[in-house]
Amino acid sequence: MVSHSGPLSNENTVRGFDAMQVLIAEDTLLMRSMLEEWITSMGHTVLLAKDGEEAVELAAREPFDIAVIDWEMPKRNGMEVVNRLRAVARTAYSHIILITAHDEASRLISALEGGADDFIHKPINPAELMARLRAGARIVEMRQEILRLANTDPLTGALNRRAFFDRGEEFLARARRTGIPFSVVVSDIDHFKRINDTHGHAAGDEALRRFAATCRAAVRPFDALGRMGGEEFALLLPDMALRDARCAAERLRTAVADVLVESGEASFAMTVSLGAAQVRADATSIEPALAAADAALYRAKAAGRNRVELAE
Ligand code: GH3
Ligand code: MG
Ligand code: MG
Ligand code: MG
Repeated sequence: MVSHSGPLSNENTVRGFDAMQVLIAEDTLLMRSMLEEWITSMGHTVLLAKDGEEAVELAAREPFDIAVIDWEMPKRNGMEVVNRLRAVARTAYSHIILITAHDEASRLISALEGGADDFIHKPINPAELMARLRAGARIVEMRQEILRLANTDPLTGALNRRAFFDRGEEFLARARRTGIPFSVVVSDIDHFKRINDTHGHAAGDEALRRFAATCRAAVRPFDALGRMGGEEFALLLPDMALRDARCAAERLRTAVADVLVESGEASFAMTVSLGAAQVRADATSIEPALAAADAALYRAKAAGRNRVELAE
């Protein structure tokens, strides 16, 4: 999930579930240490906050899968933290377990209606805590799987158009903050119709998978690859000016030309044409840069394919 802390061998770990990052907010030092010990012994990693204010700050900065929040805390109480997390897009759907010393139904109901997902009562029974974390993990994993399905192209694993443009919005915000421009590269596999016609549709699909894998290997882990349609893909290269984007596109072009696609009896090479453009640090949309990169790609096709052209 958020953190990957390697294979879990300890028998106390969460069998069948990945390790999670758990945000713990608890004002009592002893209780906080006990929660930390129990939860890390289950194989999870933790973020620790000693009051509600710190919990909100940590949650805004660090990714987490589940929050375990004490209800009674100074500065902001647990319900105020819950309200805050629910109000911020990034944490709006976090799984939140509230720790409470109360067990009147009316209070629990109002807390659930206020946004808590689950409760654990004080004094905490570690076995119950573990069971509630496992139940939470099922929901967190399901949500992540649904998000993955909603955002990626099943054939190639690249972002779909909508997710690609969402990522573009994130990179625009980043560029405005840092003042550093970024680049877009659009690509279109050459004579792809011929690959389908000669080797069959399954071989065409395999070529698309290999193309996407080659792209991912040629760029940095945080660069975004999107499938824009058919055999057209696009890359967002944050913090990268056009000069470096050209090198990246050129590297990708040669890497693709080196691939031997194998599908059934068929084995064949492919080439790609690319167009690159820069997104200004103060841009409000990636559309103009994408259009400029598309025009450059068109020139690359016209000039004989298997080449990179830059936007004017
Ligand atoms: P150019 O060099 O000018 O780009 O020529 P091209 O043949 O690559 O261009 P064109 O756009 O005419 O052909 C794209 C082909 O891609 C047509 C379509 O059948 C095929 N295609 C689109 N999506 C898929 C897919 O998911 N799998 C397979 N196998 N083929 C696809
Ligand atoms: Mg407390
Ligand atoms: Mg095309
Ligand atoms: Mg093509």
